[in-house]
Amino acid sequence: MGFAEIVGHQRQLETLRSAMANARLHHAYLFLGLEGVGKRMIAMALAKAIHCLESDQDYCGRCVNCARIMDGNHPDVRLIEPLTDKKEISIQQIRELQRELNYRSFSGKRKIVIVDPATLLNSSAQNALLKTLEEPPVDSLIILIAPNAGGLLPTLRSRCLRLSFAPLPGAQVAAFLQSKHRIQADDAKSLAAISMGSIGAAANLDKDELIEKRRIWSGMLISLKMRDYRAAIIAAEALAGNRDEALQFLKWAETWYRDLLVYSMTQTPDDLVNLDMLAQIADQSAESSLDRMLSAKGQIAGAAMGIQRNLNRRMVLEKFLFGVVRGR
Ligand SMILES: [Zn+2]
Repeated sequence: MGFAEIVGHQRQLETLRSAMANARLHHAYLFLGLEGVGKRMIAMALAKAIHCLESDQDYCGRCVNCARIMDGNHPDVRLIEPLTDKKEISIQQIRELQRELNYRSFSGKRKIVIVDPATLLNSSAQNALLKTLEEPPVDSLIILIAPNAGGLLPTLRSRCLRLSFAPLPGAQVAAFLQSKHRIQADDAKSLAAISMGSIGAAANLDKDELIEKRRIWSGMLISLKMRDYRAAIIAAEALAGNRDEALQFLKWAETWYRDLLVYSMTQTPDDLVNLDMLAQIADQSAESSLDRMLSAKGQIAGAAMGIQRNLNRRMVLEKFLFGVVRGR
């Protein structure tokens, strides 16, 4: 147990650990990156390291504090997420949090708040939270987690130190699955390829189903020709049927365009997430302009947020795919 067990994100961990060792942790952080790459896990790891009874500047995972944090019932560590059946994080939740933050911590150590996803704070909740960030209670640590900074007030963002988390390269996920989960090399490689850069996802995937979906999605994106708006409309309609699947598609599409960009710059498979699609990635990255890849990738986070906020899915996807066929 401990930081050494975390795969990837070494630079971000180094930043947090050295800040902690030098008693220079900021009072507020914004963790940005695709869903499932480990942002919440790392926020929890930091909380454990701050409160662990056995390890200094690290966590044991076994002591009463580590166990309580993992179970979500440590009095000094609060996770704020939308309440069951609610689409947003409400101002009431933030007000309650502010009352709690005014009390001393139980342990004498930092009081930690993790808001995930912060993009679901509605605007009055964001404004309320802003007040807390402007005058942070002594020894508080607030970590906002979000796929992107788009839905957050600029004033809120500017109060936080920003850390970005990239999806893990397929090779890293595969190595982890092999060593920790004792999964055979071939299976580990194919699971890693469809994990979209997330170790958590790789262990829980319905492999055959996702392989099939990726085949359809990549075929669809590859077949979209420049200025073929009709094909984009048809594709958007097909993707819009199911909310979870639409989100899954966007999440995958982000790794796809990321891979195209990475490959066009490195010309090696080393850092690809979709390792098993090397041939298609090589083709597409040669065919597409840098601007086209960047603009497609840049629109995905906003589209995903629109769907999370229950905007009309077909229109959101259409807008994204129009961007893809429009090119530059
Ligand atoms: Zn511990």
